[in-house]
Amino acid sequence: MLSLQDGGLPGDGPPQRTSLDPDDWQTLRKQGHQMLDDMLDHLETLSEKPVWQPAPSPARALFDAPLPVEPTDLADAHAIFRDNILPYGSGNIHPGFMGWVQGGGTAAGMLAEMLAGGLNANLGGRDHMPIEVERQIIRWTRQIFSFPETAGGLFLTGASQANFVAVLLALSRKLGADVRAKGLPNGSRLVAYTSSEVHGCVPRAFEMSGIGSEQLRRIQVNAAGQIDIAALERAILRDKNEGHTPFLVIGTAGTVNTGAIDDLSALRGIADANDLHFHVDGALGALGILSDDLAHLFTGIQSCDSLAFDFHKWGQVPYDAGFLLVRDSAWQRQRFASDAAYLSRAASGLAGGDWWPCDYGPDLSRGFRALKTWFTLKTYGVKALGDSMAANCALARGLAGRIEQEPALRLLAPVALNIVCFAYVGAGDDVPPQVNARIIEHLHAEGRVAPSLTHFNGQPAIRAAIVNHRTRQADIDALIDGVLKLGSRQDLLPC
Ligand SMILES: *Cc1c(COP(=O)(O)O)cnc(C)c1O
Repeated sequence: MLSLQDGGLPGDGPPQRTSLDPDDWQTLRKQGHQMLDDMLDHLETLSEKPVWQPAPSPARALFDAPLPVEPTDLADAHAIFRDNILPYGSGNIHPGFMGWVQGGGTAAGMLAEMLAGGLNANLGGRDHMPIEVERQIIRWTRQIFSFPETAGGLFLTGASQANFVAVLLALSRKLGADVRAKGLPNGSRLVAYTSSEVHGCVPRAFEMSGIGSEQLRRIQVNAAGQIDIAALERAILRDKNEGHTPFLVIGTAGTVNTGAIDDLSALRGIADANDLHFHVDGALGALGILSDDLAHLFTGIQSCDSLAFDFHKWGQVPYDAGFLLVRDSAWQRQRFASDAAYLSRAASGLAGGDWWPCDYGPDLSRGFRALKTWFTLKTYGVKALGDSMAANCALARGLAGRIEQEPALRLLAPVALNIVCFAYVGAGDDVPPQVNARIIEHLHAEGRVAPSLTHFNGQPAIRAAIVNHRTRQADIDALIDGVLKLGSRQDLLPC
């Protein structure tokens, strides 16, 4: 039975249904429990399934369907998900996943996502508890990275956005808030510095900002993959002599290719000596500071002006959960605060609240990323998260050791963190490097382990990024065994 509340008027013909809530909550409840159980079953039995398998064409065809005008039963839609989406994910939740740097997620994070979805909070601003949860995460990240009380921050989709926002902050610190209205002054000749191992999203941030990626100087790295400090100093001096205006230096805490961490204390010194904003891209590595074993690798990170990192990578929070921590939240306000009438603030009531995230970053409507992060930190505790990162690094070191013992394999870069790059070289370097790309494709098809492809000196190489808390020694052994077996196969040789 439909009630008047559903939009019907008496004597008006059949009442028009407009609410999207169910008539029968009992049926929905049962279906909801079923969906939850199915997903928990999936997580519990992950290791019995392939890390990846290609989606068959009928599954793909289901998602080239006409726009649904009429409703479909929730149970039927769930069946489509169960049969056609769930088995064909990218595999990053699987213990055998080592391709790229991606987090594994957790059951607690998943459940928190459901709660956040039910609450459907908009974290642009106003006075409600979800905002307090995001503030709690800011306070906790201040503590994790030993930042001062003045520090602010906020959730963004990922480190790509966090790095972009940091470039904008650095720009208005150099040029003043005027840059918001006036844009870049003619002939400003701004330049910034980072290493040649920088993640591709940083030059893209320079493109999006209007500064231009050519103004980002990419400095050579040393044998450990860290920015060459002497070369950096020479580049700054040369630019100054040529009339450029250096404004920003970007360090990396965990390069995407090899996991190298720049000398962050040295970068702080250079930033001070040259009046530069010092930003750190810690997308992949920074949360490693939660591990007592790893913390020393990040010396100096507490001194940066802004830090981008991803809870969705090593922090294991479900996607997406990028974060930007900023030494002085006034820099954020200077860049983003607005006085639009429809966003006017009240002294009290729902339109009150003294911290509106929309004043601190580019987004107005924002989801409740803080909740899944809060649940993850709260239910596992930072010690367990740190321990799982240290365990990843121990597996990586073990893998590197094993590679060095195998004559048919060669380690291509020192292992600073959780990333191992190597190549199948065969007996006496007689194997063309292209074989490595073929090996990786075959491993993906076999579905036991999934490393990714990278390049060293233009040659294809195998990269194992061990980020997943579920990865074990057996997965590492399967990688080595798989590479050796495939590498020795004659039919993999390019003709
Ligand atoms: C992953 C990564 C990024 C990009 O982060 P997203 O969260 O994917 O946007 C930036 N820098 C490094 C070093 C990364 O590993």
